[in-house]
Amino acid sequence: MTVLFWFRRDFRVQDNQALAAAVAWGKSKNEALAAGFVFPEDFDSLSPIRKNSLITSVESLSHSLPQGMQLASGNPATQLSEMCQRLSVTVVYATRCFDTKGMLEQAEVAEALYTAGISLQLVGSNYAVEPGTVRKDDGSPLRVYTPFYKRWLQFIGQQPYAVDLQSVQWIAGAGAMPVLSPDCPITVRASEEFALKTWQRFQARALENYSENRNRCDLSGTSHLSHALAHGEIHPRTLLAQLGDGPGAEVFRKELAWREFYADVLFHNPHTYDGYYEPRFEKMRYDEAEGNPKLAAWQTGNTGYPIVDAAMRQLITTGWMHNRARMIVASFLVKDLHIEWQVGASWFERWLTDFDPASNSHGWQWTAGCGTDASPYYRVFNPTLQGHKFDPNGDYVRKYIPELRHIPSGAVHEPWKLIDGLNHGYPAPVVDHSAERDEALARLEEIKG
Ligand SMILES: Cc1cc2nc3c(=O)[nH]c(=O)nc-3n(C[C@H](O)[C@H](O)[C@H](O)COP(=O)(O)OP(=O)(O)OC[C@H]3O[C@@H](n4cnc5c(N)ncnc54)[C@H](O)[C@@H]3O)c2cc1C
Repeated sequence: MTVLFWFRRDFRVQDNQALAAAVAWGKSKNEALAAGFVFPEDFDSLSPIRKNSLITSVESLSHSLPQGMQLASGNPATQLSEMCQRLSVTVVYATRCFDTKGMLEQAEVAEALYTAGISLQLVGSNYAVEPGTVRKDDGSPLRVYTPFYKRWLQFIGQQPYAVDLQSVQWIAGAGAMPVLSPDCPITVRASEEFALKTWQRFQARALENYSENRNRCDLSGTSHLSHALAHGEIHPRTLLAQLGDGPGAEVFRKELAWREFYADVLFHNPHTYDGYYEPRFEKMRYDEAEGNPKLAAWQTGNTGYPIVDAAMRQLITTGWMHNRARMIVASFLVKDLHIEWQVGASWFERWLTDFDPASNSHGWQWTAGCGTDASPYYRVFNPTLQGHKFDPNGDYVRKYIPELRHIPSGAVHEPWKLIDGLNHGYPAPVVDHSAERDEALARLEEIKG
């Protein structure tokens, strides 16, 4: 008889609570352990960068296991049932998911396994504090970040789980790994080991100045751990256990808590993956997205606003975007181009290697002004001022926009003001920001009544 460990968004061996439970079960019952992963049904529709990031993460994980993994692709309920039958599995262990699709998926898998007499044990989460845990005194969920954070602090502090892979017998892996996409513009680096190194480098290099530098697009002032957290190559419990004190550490803890807050909000409001948290914004007038040339300009980084375009090009060439830049481009799409946030969120989902359903949907809704704890809708980011403030010398813009490399200094944020600013193929602005700001506020007035 065999125990199957179903890897989901927890691609690590250490500090993996569910894996520790599976190993303990196998050891106590003297059963062998198999590790499995099912590539998603929509795998082929992912961007090359996301495909390669997933393959690289799974491949690294497979190498770190004593006998590799059972690999399949398609519907998880069908594929896991087949794996269980083939390997005489009696129990499947996995980390519990709390996002909309993850919850549906685990319910379907549980049902399929149940009919075959196999139990699905869901253990732990990808969060320091499981979504649904932090509540008000009356038991209701929190809608605002700061009180959530204060209560969340009371629940953290668990020690990481140690997992002894050698204490059980492993079943040899089977199935083929998809081939890396040749169209990917970068070589993705990802593994549990890489995540731990990234964390160590960040602590030595940037944590101390994190609170000052984290908003600067032109500096590498953040941890770049989002891919590892989204794929579960590192657990926030590990980060919090090693995080000391000091202003940088304090702010970093708060950022990890934003991730947990949004997971909690999505768990309590599963419809907000692609639905409005604040329903009155459904009634707002939006422009048609399909066939809209301004949307195409936004997607490809050709809006004529350098900070927006640098960010969008950073996304499609690296699979990652700076947090400040995410807010700037999100505000631009919703409030300058008047396109619904879901259009931008699904473009991000297609490209971001750190795609996380809760952080993405609620990061978008926060910026669009229709989310929880919202940045009010009337706060419209001015892309030129944001550029001057968070990329003062223009280095970020020049890095991603070759057509503007001839412009030195922060003048690069307003190329239309220079005689030769648009001489190398860079477009004029697709909209007049100040006019579109007024238009956005007028549309807000319409739904206020
Ligand atoms: C419109 C929009 C969409 C976003 N989509 C995603 C997404 O799909 N996946 C994702 O992981 N993050 C998303 N974020 C949040 C944030 O931009 C990224 O987590 C961050 O840029 C990742 O870089 P880092 O690891 O260097 O961050 P750091 O500054 O080093 O932060 C450390 C970790 O804290 C968490 N974190 C930091 N800021 C936030 C935040 N504002 N919201 C939630 N968690 C946060 C992340 O897990 C991050 O890795 C989005 C933000 C916006 C405004």
